[in-house]
Amino acid sequence: SPDGHQRLLDSLNPEQRAAVTLPHESALILAGAGSGKTRVLTTRIVWLVQTGQVSPHGILAVTFTNKAAKEMLTRISAMLPINTRGMWVGTFHGLANRLLRTHWREAGLPQSFQILDASDQLSAIKRLMKAMNVDTEKYEPKKVQWFINGHKEAGRRARDAEAYDEYSMRLAEIYEAYDAQCQREGVADFPELLLRSYELLYRNEPLRQHYQDRFRHILVDEFQDTNTLQYRWLKLFAGAHSVIFAVGDDDQSIYAFRGADTANMAAFEREFAHGNVIKLEQNYRSHGNILTAANTLIAQNAHRLGKNLWTAAGEGEPIRVFEAYSDQDEASFVVDEVRNLNREGIAYADMALLYRSNAQSRVLEHALFSAGVAYRVYGGLRFFERQEVKHALAYLRLLTHPEDDGAFLRVVNFPTRGIGARTLEQLSETAARAGTSLWQAACTSGGKVAAFARLIEDIKRATADLPLPEAIGHVVEASGLADYYRADKDGADRLENLNELVNAAALFAEESAAEASASDEPAPSELDRFLAHAALEAGEHQAEAGRDALQLMTVHAAKGLEFEAVFITGLEESLFPHEQSTLQGSGTHADEGLEEERRLMYVAITRARRRLYLSHAQSRMLHGQVRYGIASRFLSELPEQVLLHLNRRATPAHVREAPAPSPRAARAGEDTGYRVGQSVAHARFGTGIIIDFEGRGPDARVQVKFRDGTKWLALAYAKLSPA
Ligand code: ATP
Ligand code: MG
Repeated sequence: SPDGHQRLLDSLNPEQRAAVTLPHESALILAGAGSGKTRVLTTRIVWLVQTGQVSPHGILAVTFTNKAAKEMLTRISAMLPINTRGMWVGTFHGLANRLLRTHWREAGLPQSFQILDASDQLSAIKRLMKAMNVDTEKYEPKKVQWFINGHKEAGRRARDAEAYDEYSMRLAEIYEAYDAQCQREGVADFPELLLRSYELLYRNEPLRQHYQDRFRHILVDEFQDTNTLQYRWLKLFAGAHSVIFAVGDDDQSIYAFRGADTANMAAFEREFAHGNVIKLEQNYRSHGNILTAANTLIAQNAHRLGKNLWTAAGEGEPIRVFEAYSDQDEASFVVDEVRNLNREGIAYADMALLYRSNAQSRVLEHALFSAGVAYRVYGGLRFFERQEVKHALAYLRLLTHPEDDGAFLRVVNFPTRGIGARTLEQLSETAARAGTSLWQAACTSGGKVAAFARLIEDIKRATADLPLPEAIGHVVEASGLADYYRADKDGADRLENLNELVNAAALFAEESAAEASASDEPAPSELDRFLAHAALEAGEHQAEAGRDALQLMTVHAAKGLEFEAVFITGLEESLFPHEQSTLQGSGTHADEGLEEERRLMYVAITRARRRLYLSHAQSRMLHGQVRYGIASRFLSELPEQVLLHLNRRATPAHVREAPAPSPRAARAGEDTGYRVGQSVAHARFGTGIIIDFEGRGPDARVQVKFRDGTKWLALAYAKLSPA
């Protein structure tokens, strides 16, 4: 209704409204953090559909993370009472996967092709290099992976790879053999999804025509971070009647190290937007002090397109700066503060703990865990990357796609079935001679290997008619994985994760049942879709999804998100800015690295709505070494008047946490009602015995020895009961 359209537009400022209601032409929305780019993009989709200019079917929208894609779909569904399934909204990889699943035949892939994540890919490369007798000292597998992916992301196959000397020619050879191996095994790595779907459309004119006619409106968020191949991929979808609506912020370009190129923005302006550039300058996210800090910082970069941001919100609170003695001290400061904020009424889920490198999360996680604060890590070791989960997935892959040698090798002797390396070598030789997969070779051989093949066949028969979650439950039992972890004294967590995999499948089945009914495409089997989901999923469905939990992630993973309170930790030279950025090259290269780090810091600061903490530590354990850091240069690049330097607390944590003789422990526990030696029960860890105490009153913590290990627990949160 016209009323509906008006309400939709009422909540926007004039520039935003102009962007949302642009006529049918391509445009670039160039604007700073928090200025409503994503909101404009989402609202434009709704507006286009509501005003009947395009059917949901004609929309292709690309975002950077799964989390962002989900949020976008949720927002669209809230404004538009339609089924969003026909709309293509997702990440580049997710959409490429969708295309390839629909047109697997034309793309030269098996219908149930499997996706290799980065670690699967590395094992596949190592296996290949072994078969090719490549010296892994001279050619490090990780570098080979980097070489292959770099070329794929630039749209180059092995034959087009830059090879000018013996070394690079050998690399190109490995690349070629690797692609052949993937093809044989029916698997595709991440960059392959994109390159393969690009080649598919590029070569297949009728198909390209079909999609170009279909997608009238292509919308791209975070455009500054597209790489060469992604930009070319987008262009292929854009036909004579399509328009591209790209939103981005050059100041938030943080993926140059992975081939992203802000030059794409200039190219896009030239090739599509033809000067149709809209700037948004009002920031709706952050209070004044936070914005002043962000603006002042980024002004120190020389290479910018130049934008201003202002806010109508007041100055707000000062930015709190904390200098810790150590990383542990920093962690316990954070724990204290998040609890205080939570008591003041901010949900944990509305607070983010950011760090530059994944390695920094361990100490923070430890402190949060000990204090009983629920937290969730994004982009760390993802749920689907855990060893036990990957084992289970490998069994599932063999059910649907037995030619997958990587999956075969992962579980043929796990749990152990007495199949030795020697047997597997022979099997590989047989397979290589006959030009078949390991699976086929196993089926025609005898002994334990054949027994394994029969096991897989049995499981396949038994699960054929089961709903997905039950099928997975059966696989976990019948494969012997469950028994294996039951027998392992450290296996409890792993068993729990395998249960969680069944839950994840149940959730997936539920969600996809709702969507599938509206789908107009031939659907791959539910198992295949679940496996693709497992490979592409960034961990949002981790254990205990839905519970109020503090959000932990790297700054890269925080792009596009916002939180009431944000902690940026580890602000030390060589950590943030990262040493690689400042060591790298000299002259302009060094500047480029540093400028990218500064943009990263700009992204981090601009995630905060109301409260921002910046912390650094005098010493830190990292990669097994104590490092003595000096405060990051970024701190000194912020205007003093918006900062508040917090006073060190009376007792530094490292003193508080020193190992205590037992008399102190007894004293410390006096006021708690518990004593050392007492048996207690915990909902999750079972029963255990108190072996130590520290702190008093609301800060009291106990150390409890459970069957599966020793844990420090905060009494105020752990809900222990006498056992
Ligand atoms: P980033 O660069 O970090 O991705 P962005 O430009 O995409 O930021 P959004 O996330 O779309 O910004 O918007 C930032 C916040 O401001 C959101 O909470 C959004 O709902 C709010 N917002 C945007 N425009 C308006 C407006 N006109 N009135 C009120 N709130 C707005
Ligand atoms: Mg955004």
